[in-house]
Amino acid sequence: MKWHWMFFAVILPIFILLIILSATPDSEAGNVKLRTITSEVILPFNKAKDHSDEVFWQVDQVRRNDTLGKLFDRMGVHDNDAKKFLTLSSDSKAINTQLIPGRTLEIKTDADGKLLYLEYELRDDNILVAGLTPSGYQIAQQKLILEQQQVIKSATIINSLFGATDDAGIPDQIALQIASIFSGVIDFNQDLRSGDKFNVLYEAFYNAGELMKTGKVLAVEFLSNGKLRKAIHFGDADTKYAYYTPEGENLHKSFLRSPLEFSRVSSSFSRGRYHPILNRIRAHKGVDFAAAHGTRIKASGDGVIKFMGRKGGYGNVVIIKHNNKISTVYGHLARFSKILRRGSEVTQGDIIGYVGKTGLATGPHLHYEFLLNGVHRNPMTVELPSGRPIDPNYKDAFKAKNLELFAKIEMLNRQLSAASSQ
Ligand SMILES: [Zn+2]
Repeated sequence: MKWHWMFFAVILPIFILLIILSATPDSEAGNVKLRTITSEVILPFNKAKDHSDEVFWQVDQVRRNDTLGKLFDRMGVHDNDAKKFLTLSSDSKAINTQLIPGRTLEIKTDADGKLLYLEYELRDDNILVAGLTPSGYQIAQQKLILEQQQVIKSATIINSLFGATDDAGIPDQIALQIASIFSGVIDFNQDLRSGDKFNVLYEAFYNAGELMKTGKVLAVEFLSNGKLRKAIHFGDADTKYAYYTPEGENLHKSFLRSPLEFSRVSSSFSRGRYHPILNRIRAHKGVDFAAAHGTRIKASGDGVIKFMGRKGGYGNVVIIKHNNKISTVYGHLARFSKILRRGSEVTQGDIIGYVGKTGLATGPHLHYEFLLNGVHRNPMTVELPSGRPIDPNYKDAFKAKNLELFAKIEMLNRQLSAASSQ
């Protein structure tokens, strides 16, 4: 039963402790410097830089199909001079050609919405800076000098993963990486419980003390449902599935525990398990995932689309054949991915469609089946094949890395328990 969530949803987040460990990547675990930062709520859209009543700092991210005009409207910039300058100046071309979703725009305006300062993140660690001077707007590109740090943070889940990561000041990109690293063993949409906790060590890049971007998760330990799971990154930067248990087992599974995309939206959806009427009439052959209408559905493993269309009580359904033994079925979809057809090859994680309530369904949910040799298996508990373990040639290097990274996390644990027993 997943009812716990409804109750926990009303309990406010209580505590967060966070410690930033500043260390160069090659430093010895024994002599790194620990810097303790007192708990502080980080307000995403409000810079503490300038508290004058006259100016307003704002940070926003570019969204899909954004134009500079749309961004300005959203951020309350009402300034035709600035718009004109940024449209006509050849130096500002970069901002118009690089409005890439996820990039950060930071602005300062006065109370009337006049643009005083603008900073935009360009490619290759360049930023575009524009400011109002007595002689009009000036614009320049600057190269950021990025300082790489390893950051360790600890968070306790009260009502959602994002609630916990927000409170601990952990960027979304790191939260999503954690979910992806454990996607073969934990269903982040349904398995998390209040009291679950994790420690994560990740790369972050700073410029003049300000976080510019995050890199990859280096090590993470996740205590969920009383079970402690650890993962460490090993391999070059391009390796897609490079997370292993301390024993050297590959954490990548050939199937996801849940085909629903984990996101801020899905994670805040009610966790009540959906119970369709048909359950009472005949044996239920799959798992029903409650989800908001339109939630994206992923192929749970690599394979070929065997069927994509309407089928009786399933409504809009996708069937993927993964190999000679395993097929998966996704029912009640609102619609399908536009780029896929019967016969298309899919890779694990590809979006195949969107949650709906077509066919025999009283509300939006995903009906998911996992068939092994034509027999229905419980996708939540079936044993899933893993990726390749650590190559024996790298065993020693892996062991050393493992010791180094988890020594840092252990140090954090000791600090936390010392702090809580004081
Ligand atoms: Zn069902």
